[in-house]
Amino acid sequence: MPEDQQVEQQKFVYDFHEGNKDLKDLLGGKGANLAEMTNLGLPVPPGFTITTEACKEYLVSGEEPAALRDEVSAHLDALEARMGKKLGQADDPLLVSVRSGAKFSMPGMMDTVLNIGLSDESVQGLAAQAGEERFAWDSYRRLIQMFGKTVLGVDGDLFEEALEGAKHAKGVASDVELEAKDLKRLVQVFKEIVAKETGRDFPQDPREQMDLAVHAVFDSWNTDRAKLYRRQERIPHDLGTAVNVCSMVFGNLGPDSGTGVAFTRDPASGHAGVYGDYLQNAQGEDVVAGIRNTMQLAELEGLDKKSYDELMQIMQKLETHYLDLCDIEFTIERGKLWMLQTRVGKRTAAAAFRIATQLVDQGLIDEAEALQRVTGHQLAQLMFPRFDSDHKGELLGRGIAASPGAAVGKAVFDSYTAVKWSRSGEKVILIRRETNPDDLDGMIAAEGILTSRGGKTSHAAVVARGMGKTCVCGAEELEVDTKRRRMTAPGGVVIDEGDLVSIDGSTGKVYLGDVPVVPSPVVEYFEGRMHAGAEDADELVAAVHRIMAYADRVRRLRVRANADNAEDASRARRFGAQGIGLCRTEHMFLGERRQYVERLILAESDEEREAALTALTPLQKDDFVSLFEAMDGLPVTVRLLDPPLHEFLPDITELSVRVALAESRKDHNENDLRLLQAVHRLHEQNPMLGLRGVRLGLVIPGLFAMQVKAIAEAAADRLDAKGDPRAEIMIPLVGTVQELELVRDEAEQVIAEVEARRGVELKLTLGTMIELPRAALTAGQIAESADFFSFGTNDLTQTVWGFSRDDVEASFFTAYLEKGIFGVSPFETIDRDGVGALVRSAAEAGRATRPDLKLGVCGEHGGDPESVHFFHEVGLDYVSCSPFRIPVARLEAARAAAATEGGGSDHR
Ligand code: PEP
Ligand code: MG
Repeated sequence: MPEDQQVEQQKFVYDFHEGNKDLKDLLGGKGANLAEMTNLGLPVPPGFTITTEACKEYLVSGEEPAALRDEVSAHLDALEARMGKKLGQADDPLLVSVRSGAKFSMPGMMDTVLNIGLSDESVQGLAAQAGEERFAWDSYRRLIQMFGKTVLGVDGDLFEEALEGAKHAKGVASDVELEAKDLKRLVQVFKEIVAKETGRDFPQDPREQMDLAVHAVFDSWNTDRAKLYRRQERIPHDLGTAVNVCSMVFGNLGPDSGTGVAFTRDPASGHAGVYGDYLQNAQGEDVVAGIRNTMQLAELEGLDKKSYDELMQIMQKLETHYLDLCDIEFTIERGKLWMLQTRVGKRTAAAAFRIATQLVDQGLIDEAEALQRVTGHQLAQLMFPRFDSDHKGELLGRGIAASPGAAVGKAVFDSYTAVKWSRSGEKVILIRRETNPDDLDGMIAAEGILTSRGGKTSHAAVVARGMGKTCVCGAEELEVDTKRRRMTAPGGVVIDEGDLVSIDGSTGKVYLGDVPVVPSPVVEYFEGRMHAGAEDADELVAAVHRIMAYADRVRRLRVRANADNAEDASRARRFGAQGIGLCRTEHMFLGERRQYVERLILAESDEEREAALTALTPLQKDDFVSLFEAMDGLPVTVRLLDPPLHEFLPDITELSVRVALAESRKDHNENDLRLLQAVHRLHEQNPMLGLRGVRLGLVIPGLFAMQVKAIAEAAADRLDAKGDPRAEIMIPLVGTVQELELVRDEAEQVIAEVEARRGVELKLTLGTMIELPRAALTAGQIAESADFFSFGTNDLTQTVWGFSRDDVEASFFTAYLEKGIFGVSPFETIDRDGVGALVRSAAEAGRATRPDLKLGVCGEHGGDPESVHFFHEVGLDYVSCSPFRIPVARLEAARAAAATEGGGSDHR
């Protein structure tokens, strides 16, 4: 850098005027959107945002950046000048809120403190200015309560108990009924709690309050619940949170004030309309906490028409500006509307598809953007079964349909039990009066969530929707008693812990017992049993149909299925598969056919071996004929036998006992004895790394030749039947090109022999799996002998990490996930840096040797949304996955293509 060039000092604080919606990395979602609304001229209380960069520095060093204090002072001065009062000023205090806001919304996960600037002195000034003593003392008690809990770490229950005590003493049910003098007394009690629990007095200096609150927000990035949420939502841990310091407006100034949340359209169906909740005379989190029951937003029109009309106009403006469903938080202070937050709102999977197509129809977005508005994960959710509409389940009650789906499980009344029971394999429904962020792990563990309080925007509803979990909330007629672990329905039916309940998140209905489920209409559509254009097709199916049609036009990756029989192949084809990427032939040797493999293993002479192989050939051939028929005209990759042979033999312990018992009865069974010897001979300590894959083919004479012959004969049969077979023969577990060459030589001879005898040209190709590190590292050599590569990312992950794929997920992955070593199992989502790097370099090396080398993947990752994006990026030709994942892979392949070509958007 030239000497005369000044190093520009990093800027850590942005006034709301200075930001915009595209600065989410720096200002967090909330800060970026507050700035955007400010610049749109909407009524946003003035304030400023401290950047995520400041948070990151703080988290690393434990101290705020040196320049931050002065920068905050400068912005605070400007804010004070604008508002005409000083923070905490005794006679007329400026009060601020300090709120977290990361790049991705993490509802309720991090901290917020309201009413900063109040003290024993300024509470009097606030009372005088507002002409409302009750309001001032209510605001002060809220500050001490929130500050005490989140900043000073005091147990929140202590405050709650004191508040309950005050209500009880006065004989009232709701906190709004407490008068100024009661609240004044409560403030005293709260201050005593703080002093006793922390050994210090509640700070009276407003700037100290603000700085401590900012640090608390920074710290809350790393609370256990925030970390858990990020893992669940796959949000990176290193983003940090921004902090928004915003001048306070008050919804608790009396009946002409209030606070609410709203959506610009229904987050459950996508339909336009007025959706939201409003709570009169309330502040901040009262609405989402579900503490008092809210009124519907539409009722606000009757209460305060001016604010209502303005709100409707603003919502309209936000939708056309953001080109999407927005959710907002607002406050009305004595008849004046203020916007506190907006963001592109979370929605159900069904609404995502509907909204995307609605916005295309409105001309607001194009098809490529529509693809970014939905995810494969959402599509997978839509494919889950739902309750049979003819079922006769006993209706217990009804709540709000907050997050769709059909969930059945045993009733549990606390998160601890939910986690414990689900770990032991039970399906549970978490039932609470209302949930709060501490319930997160219980919500993750449960099949579904049921609450008796709170609306569509309550914590339970918002978090469940975000997770794609079924949720019914606000089922007020169900009396939930968490202490006694029971729920009572209106008719008097009592549900105790462990009783089965079924909840329908699409209708809000709650049933006793286990209600039967039926396939989803989306699956019926993919199966071809429901047509998108038909009159009875619902809106959702029509939307899915349209999005899938865009997807198929846009994607570059082809999608194949992992299927071993004609039935799966046909379903895969209906679901849009463009071939089979993996037919695991070992699945053809189970059941009755196992005896032939047993004979093959026990063969002591060439004749015996030949006889076993000859018995197997026609069976194999018939399998292939039906598979090629189901996939006529499309490629079918048949993999030669892969697993260790002993998997086809009886269990060693059982057989030993049988032989020993027979011996003791002097009842010798020659066959069993031979079998036992073979089982011992073939027993391996690490069978996954032993005699399997290509090694078997090279060691057991005639095995692979038999399979190749069956494939060739089947292809010839299909040609005779005027079909169009496109078989590809795949060799598993190759580590070096020499192995492949040996198998190829043998296979080519067999194929040539069949071609000559049958008088046909078969055009069979021969390739290999790349599923060992050595294969990936020598892919350039291997490609000399391969027509195609298919990445076996299951084995590749196993061998690159040294993780036994059958053991580790159950044994220690939970600990690894908890420690944040990885956010998701590498067997589920491709490990880009390790396994992915090998896939990338092997693909490049293979293509360098042989530019027309066909490349695919057939490990489980082929149906995982994030991994599909990776395979698109590295230029594979296709992904292969289980039939049910095919629509998901089609959609994600298109999203990957649209994102790389069109730049993509930030929608997760
Ligand atoms: C793989 O290893 O990724 C693969 C597809 O083969 P299998 O799972 O059958 O070992
Ligand atoms: Mg494998």
